[in-house]
Amino acid sequence: DIESLSDLEKLDVIGHGNGGTVYKVRNRKSSSVFALKVLRLDPNVAVIRHQAACEAEILKRVDSQFVVKCLAVFDTIEGDLCFVMEHMERGSLYDELRVRVNLPECVISRIAEGVLRGLQYLHGMQIVHGDIKPSNLLINGKGEVKIADFGVSKIGVGTRSACIMCMGTCAYMSPERVDSERWNGGNADGFAGDVWSLGVVLLECFVGHYPLVSLGETPDWAVLMCSICFGERLEIPETASPEFRSFVRRCLEKDWRQRGTVNELLAHPFASRSF
Ligand code: ADP
Ligand code: MG
Repeated sequence: DIESLSDLEKLDVIGHGNGGTVYKVRNRKSSSVFALKVLRLDPNVAVIRHQAACEAEILKRVDSQFVVKCLAVFDTIEGDLCFVMEHMERGSLYDELRVRVNLPECVISRIAEGVLRGLQYLHGMQIVHGDIKPSNLLINGKGEVKIADFGVSKIGVGTRSACIMCMGTCAYMSPERVDSERWNGGNADGFAGDVWSLGVVLLECFVGHYPLVSLGETPDWAVLMCSICFGERLEIPETASPEFRSFVRRCLEKDWRQRGTVNELLAHPFASRSF
């Protein structure tokens, strides 16, 4: 029921990210609340244009209760691209972790299930998200977690489109993606990379800080890349349940061919409410 941007009244700024600001807005006619993401596009940078076009194209096709819904996309005269999305009242998992530090396993297991169902849907459409991390997982008023932000997603398996140039945050990136030689040579398709990122996120929820480097360390790119690709087998705290430990281990299997698949993990006791 939103015909143009003038139907919307800006209420608040609710987020900032790469090249975009997200506002809380209200439809003047119905008074329903939405989130409006405004992407400032530099008309001279073709990659950004391409990334935005990709995001709009993907979003228009996506319709799942586990993925943040995009209701409309508008161009402005200034050349910005505006996405009207469902408003996720409780913000991102990143914000949640700033407040709650670490989450109980029953909450982590609900996050795991929601993200896996979102990935199952996206992967079924041949979409690799490519940037699963706490700030891209949003929570609504009912406490449901949904996947957002397709800025670096790409359509199609194995095609290295220009979208891939806009790399996701490296901290959550899988070893095969960090190690581009294996990414090329081993035909990694990217789906397993989303599962790896989910594993990092869930472990972070449990330990309360980014889990692949020691607490207090501010690693540079090289240290981070080394710990992702060559680090010792992951330390998962002894205080975690056997179900959580086994689940995270399946996500963080370094060899993507051996890693748990979305369907396997959905049936795992940790994600399937059976423990
Ligand atoms: P970017 O591509 O700039 O990272 P995101 O789409 O991830 O943009 O949005 C940045 C931040 O804005 C998110 O981390 C979140 O805090 C907030 N945000 C984005 N979309 C929504 C939404 N639909 N509802 C509520 N908050 C949102
Ligand atoms: Mg984001």
